[in-house]
Amino acid sequence: LAKDRGRGRFEIFDDDLRGRIDRRLDTEIALRSAVGLGQIETWYQPIVDLQARTVVATEALARWRRPERGIAMPNEFIAIAEEVGLIKQIGAEVLGQACLAATALSASIAVSVNVSPRQFVRDDFGAVVKRALRISGLAPDQLWLELTESAVTEAIGSAARTFQELRDMGVRIAIDDFGSGYSSFTHLREFDVDLLKIDMSFVRDIEHSTRDRAIVEGVVRLAESLRLDVVAEGIESAGQLELLEKMGCRFGQGYLFSKPAPDAAPAVRFKEIQDTLGHRLV
Ligand code: C2E
Ligand code: MG
Ligand code: MG
Ligand code: MG
Repeated sequence: LAKDRGRGRFEIFDDDLRGRIDRRLDTEIALRSAVGLGQIETWYQPIVDLQARTVVATEALARWRRPERGIAMPNEFIAIAEEVGLIKQIGAEVLGQACLAATALSASIAVSVNVSPRQFVRDDFGAVVKRALRISGLAPDQLWLELTESAVTEAIGSAARTFQELRDMGVRIAIDDFGSGYSSFTHLREFDVDLLKIDMSFVRDIEHSTRDRAIVEGVVRLAESLRLDVVAEGIESAGQLELLEKMGCRFGQGYLFSKPAPDAAPAVRFKEIQDTLGHRLV
């Protein structure tokens, strides 16, 4: 019966759990020296102006190059870094690299950097941003900071001053994954942001779901009335692009244009995309 099997099952679970704890500890220990060893890299994915067909910005995305293991993606280490207090260091590294890369580009393209709530609620985050701008010489309005809705929630309390400090500096603030959080409208009311990035989960099915299409169009109209810029995330098909264009969505980002790449200089396949659309993208 269950009672007889109980012990064996418990041991199997135990081994499995132990394995996971060991792997997690290995990751944590390795992550502690990742910045010092120069293993944190920044990759870039362009954000395009859908009407003008130009690149307006490039999003900085963290990658961890682990010896003998290849490249680790953010979902393998960002949450751990947040939990063990390494996100401040990793975040500052990515911010620094991103600002330098943006300054080195010949075209004037903004760089958009993801900020964890744990970084944002620290008193010195304003100073970290100032330093990155000073060292790189990047103009403040060429730096966009992407905050998730949970970061904005925390900002309502402890980090309201940091938020104001960033506003005063002139960096642009975006709400990332807009619509995926619990209180999207409260954030819009309380915080003076510049840009909304519509979560890719809403964009995914716009070709087939009239409901999703209505939601995305609603956010585009909302952004318009609030005079905010709007980015549709996760555009993968020409059909999605066509619909977003028709809605008047200003900016877009996704594999259709380019996957994230180690080089900040954007290589967007406008020609091919235009061919796919039969030259309708003008
Ligand atoms: P995010 O900021 O929403 O970034 C978008 C993610 O979607 C990226 O994954 C990007 O590669 C992926 N993506 C872009 N276009 C498409 C598409 O057309 N289709 C699909 N399926 N995916 C697409 P990535 O690089 O794995 O990053 C995942 C998340 O990790 C980011 O989501 C962001 O929240 C976090 N992250 C990345 N870098 C950093 C960082 O430096 N600091 C912090 N705090 N978080 C970071
Ligand atoms: Mg982002
Ligand atoms: Mg996003
Ligand atoms: Mg996301």
